Amino acid sequence: MNIIHISAECYPIAKVGGLADVVGSLPKYQSELGENSIVIMPFYDNAFTKNNTFETHYASVLNLGRDYHFKVLSLKDNTLGYDLFFIDIPELLFKDYVYSEDDTERFLAFQIAALNWVLQLKKENTVVHCHDHHTGLIPFMMSHCYTYEALKATPSILTIHNAQYQGWFSHDKVHLIPKFDLSNIGLLDWDNVINPLAAAIKCSWRVTTVSPSYMEELKEKANGLERLLQHESAKCVGILNGIDTDVWNAETDGFIIKNYSQKTILSGKKANKAWLCKEFNLDSKRPLFAFIGRLVGEKGAGLFPEIFDKALSADKISLLLLGSGHESIQDSLQALKPKHKGVYNTFIGYDEKLSHIIYAGADFLLMPSRVEPCGLNQMYSLRYGTIPVVSSVGGLKDTVIDIKNDGFGIRHDQVKIEDVAEAIKRATNLYSDDSRFKKIRKQIMSIDHSWNASAKAYIDLYNSLT
Ligand code: ADP
Repeated sequence: MNIIHISAECYPIAKVGGLADVVGSLPKYQSELGENSIVIMPFYDNAFTKNNTFETHYASVLNLGRDYHFKVLSLKDNTLGYDLFFIDIPELLFKDYVYSEDDTERFLAFQIAALNWVLQLKKENTVVHCHDHHTGLIPFMMSHCYTYEALKATPSILTIHNAQYQGWFSHDKVHLIPKFDLSNIGLLDWDNVINPLAAAIKCSWRVTTVSPSYMEELKEKANGLERLLQHESAKCVGILNGIDTDVWNAETDGFIIKNYSQKTILSGKKANKAWLCKEFNLDSKRPLFAFIGRLVGEKGAGLFPEIFDKALSADKISLLLLGSGHESIQDSLQALKPKHKGVYNTFIGYDEKLSHIIYAGADFLLMPSRVEPCGLNQMYSLRYGTIPVVSSVGGLKDTVIDIKNDGFGIRHDQVKIEDVAEAIKRATNLYSDDSRFKKIRKQIMSIDHSWNASAKAYIDLYNSLT
C-alpha cells in the first residue's frame, strides 16, 4: 500500500511539538511493516535544509490569486527509513519559522501543490493521511474540487493532534481554493467561517485522534467542534501515539551526558542529574522535578508560578523548567528565581539536546495539563526512568497508572494548585522510600510505548478503506 502523510512538521527536519515526532516516526514503522509510507512537508529555511542536499522531482505552477512556481524536492542520502518529499514555494514556505500569525495562504498553497503532485503519481492502492488543520482542506479538495476528480476514490484520513487550533479564515478567501461546485460550500463552513479542521472532519473517510481518551473528551470539549464530532462519531477512532524507540533510547542517545540501560540506571541517571544540577545551580541531593513544553493554558502553565512557589516553599525539592510561550508566564517564572536560588531554574526557549538530558537526569516529570491529546513527554520520561506526575486527562490517562493502583506514576484529578501541590508531595514521599522509588524507575524503562502496535492499527484502518 502507498501511504502518503502530509504534514507541516516532521522530526528531525522541523519540529514545534509532538506532531513532528509522530510524523517523523510513524512512517518509519509502517515502512518496516512492508508498506510504502512517505511524508510530504514544506521546504523551510532552517538548519536541516541548509545542511542537506535535495534533488528536484517535479516542477509546476499553482494558482492562488496569482501564479506561484513550486518544486517537489526529495532528500538525498536519506537514512530516515522512509521517503521524504518537500514542497518548495520560495515566496511562501521558505521561511525560518513553521507557523506565523496568518498562515492561510502559506498552507493553502502547500496543500494545493502537494495534491497537484499526488495527482501526477497515479499510484494504485494509495491512502492520503492528513495531520491537523494545516492539511485539513485536502480531504475536501480530493472529493469536491474539479482538478482532483481522479483522487475522488482515494481514501483520506485525518489525524487530530490538537483540536484547539482549527485554521479558521473568512469566506472572502474562499476563491483561493481550487474550483468546486458552490453548493458544497457548507462542507467548508463552521459557524460562518471557513474551518479547515471542521472540513477535514466532515470530508475525510476516517478521523483519528492521538489517544482514545482524547477522542472521548473532544465530543464534550473541542473548541466549538463538539457537535460535529458527535455527529461523525461512527468514523472516528482514537489510536494512541507511539514513540521512536531508536531516537529515544537512553543506551544510545547521543545528546545525553552518560548513556545507561536498566542495569546501569543508577549511575546513568546520577551523572545526567549531576550535570543538570551543576549547569543550572540546583541542589542535587533533593528530588529533581522538571517540566518541558509549551507555556500555554493547555499545559496548565498559567498556574505554574503559584504551584512552583508553593511546592518550593513547602517541600525539599529542586525544579527545572524548559519551555517557552506566553510572555507574562515566562516573566512570572523568571521572577521566582531570586526567592528560590539554588533549587529552581528555568531555560526559556527551545533546546532539543537539553530536553533529552532532562528526561535522563530528572527524577520526576511534571505534566499538570488541562488538555493533553496524547502527550509524548510522559512516554519519553518513562523510557528514561523518570517518574511522571500528571493530570488525569487525555493520553496521560491512557498511559500513566497511579502508584495507588499498583502503577508507576502519580496522577491528580484536577488541575488546581492544591491538587498539583499534593501530587508533588506524594512524589517527594515516594523519593524518600528509596528502594520503592528505585524499583519503580527501573521497571518503567521497559514499558513498551514503541509504534509497533499503533503503526499496525493505522494500517488495519487503511486496509478497511481500500
Ligand atoms: P505538544 O505537541 O502539545 O507540544 P507533546 O507532548 O505531544 O506536546 O510533544 C512535545 C514535544 O516537544 C516533545 O518531544 C518535547 O520534548 C518537545 N518540546 C516541547 N517544548 C520543548 C522545548 N522548549 N525544548 C525542547 N523540546 C521541547
